[in-house]
Amino acid sequence: MIWDFDYSSVSAIAKLLDENGLSMTKKFGQNFLVSQQVLDRIAAQCGDLTGKTVWEVGPGIGALTTKLLKAGAFVTSFEIDHGFCRILREQAYVEEPKFRLIEGDALKNWRSLYDKKGVPDIICANLPYNVGSMFIASLIEGRCVPQRMVYTLQSEVVQRMCAKNSSQDYSGFTVLTNIDYENKEAFRIKAGCFFPPPNVDSSVVVMQRRQEKLVPEELVPRLISLVRVLFSQRRKTVKNNLKGIGLGSEELDRLLANAGVPAGERAEKLSMDQLVALAQEFEKTMHHSPSSKEVLK
Ligand code: SAM
Repeated sequence: MIWDFDYSSVSAIAKLLDENGLSMTKKFGQNFLVSQQVLDRIAAQCGDLTGKTVWEVGPGIGALTTKLLKAGAFVTSFEIDHGFCRILREQAYVEEPKFRLIEGDALKNWRSLYDKKGVPDIICANLPYNVGSMFIASLIEGRCVPQRMVYTLQSEVVQRMCAKNSSQDYSGFTVLTNIDYENKEAFRIKAGCFFPPPNVDSSVVVMQRRQEKLVPEELVPRLISLVRVLFSQRRKTVKNNLKGIGLGSEELDRLLANAGVPAGERAEKLSMDQLVALAQEFEKTMHHSPSSKEVLK
């Protein structure tokens, strides 16, 4: 059963928390969405939810969860705040068959659910800003890549996910989130739509799985480790960032030339195609050079 709670009323939320001896904490990025219109727009970005399996990180007291459930999804929510978990279990969704709660840190817990149940159809969350990019990175690195993910994040993080190469926002996180997905900022959310209002700008990003793979699956781990090294020091050239991996200077020059990457270039200038070509060159070289295999694994 899904309860009938007025998530748009700040006084109703305050009363509920007070009755349960709870308060909001900054530590867990607790900013509830109180605008029904915004919540509807976020759920709508997921597409048809009927019968879909959805993961949600940080349901809080269930504002977005309720929208997802009412749209017909089977929702598994990860919530770290034990007080909120009690409300979700004992008041919001008592014996609701389409709702499942995993209590604890989503960063630590998603893997075992994935191992048991596989990839969900969709992930949708108003992510706590302090763990947002870490969570997305850990999914992609762990190769849990659903068809669609819809997140509310700090606008700055969304800009990085949507950045083009050579722009200031282009980073290792841009590359990581573009391996499997096309990312689009769907809309911005005004601070006043949250309780309490956050002091950063917020945006909703839609991550849609690419129809055609940009990176062959077997190359993904190599590309991810390469990106880590290449973007480790932004001011350094590609070649200088790669010097520590155990290849000689000449070999490195040859490898960069084969991939069509100028040695004096900075990583932020490289297109996805160049990065993939570079990962491919490393893949070939690793067969002959076990020492660098250790460094760039
Ligand atoms: N979904 C609700 C909404 O939209 O109103 C609340 C979103 S609030 C921005 C973030 C939620 O994530 C909070 O409920 C917080 O307790 C929870 N949270 C923070 N860190 C978490 C973590 N590592 N794992 C699971 N939940 C977390």
